[in-house]
Amino acid sequence: MKNKGHTTHKAKMEKLKKNVDASISAATIDKGVGILLTGNGKGKSSSAFGMVMRALGYGYKVAVIQFLKGAQSSGEEKFIQDNFPEVLFHQMKTGYTWDTQDRDKDKAAAISSWKVAKKALADKSLHLVVLDELTYMLSFKYLDESEVIQALNNRPQNQSVVITGRGGGKKLKNWADTVSEVRDIKHAFNSQIMARKGVDY
Ligand code: ATP
Ligand code: MG
Repeated sequence: MKNKGHTTHKAKMEKLKKNVDASISAATIDKGVGILLTGNGKGKSSSAFGMVMRALGYGYKVAVIQFLKGAQSSGEEKFIQDNFPEVLFHQMKTGYTWDTQDRDKDKAAAISSWKVAKKALADKSLHLVVLDELTYMLSFKYLDESEVIQALNNRPQNQSVVITGRGGGKKLKNWADTVSEVRDIKHAFNSQIMARKGVDY
């Protein structure tokens, strides 16, 4: 005879399966998704590049626009450029202007990268568009928030967009279909461990 624990577990699993099946059959909308990856912890950009890998695995077209990095090259940049030259990979490359705090120059660079992003957001052939570190361009007010939201809303129906960066604001959170916050519980950097090649960049 089966024990009571087994019966209770079975009943619980059956109930769970029923709920999952109901959610699966309720999800009938077939369209691209808007994803915001925010929070203070590590894992936002690397998650975005995980989705780039998934899309490329199926032969889909991808664009990546990075709004902050550029001074230091990264493994993901090298991997994509060496193996998937067909991927549109744009970096703001403000480089030293961040150090010199030249706001006008930074704003001009943000606007010029936004033009690339806007074009990608209008390109029907793109399955996935990553706007890495875009949130800072909005919090610094380098880009006009309503113009960004409008371009995101007007994108092709089947295009998914991943936006990364801390913060993000109410409007961006409202726009997104999926919002995940990566919480910083601890980070190696605070234990004086150097940023690791192939892990952090
Ligand atoms: P990753 O690219 O590793 O997924 P991220 O996109 O979530 O990180 P960013 O704020 O873009 O985070 O930071 C990029 C770099 O800063 C990475 O080298 C990452 O390890 C490091 N980093 C991320 N979060 C923290 C943190 N809480 N404290 C210190 N360094 C961090
Ligand atoms: Mg990042």
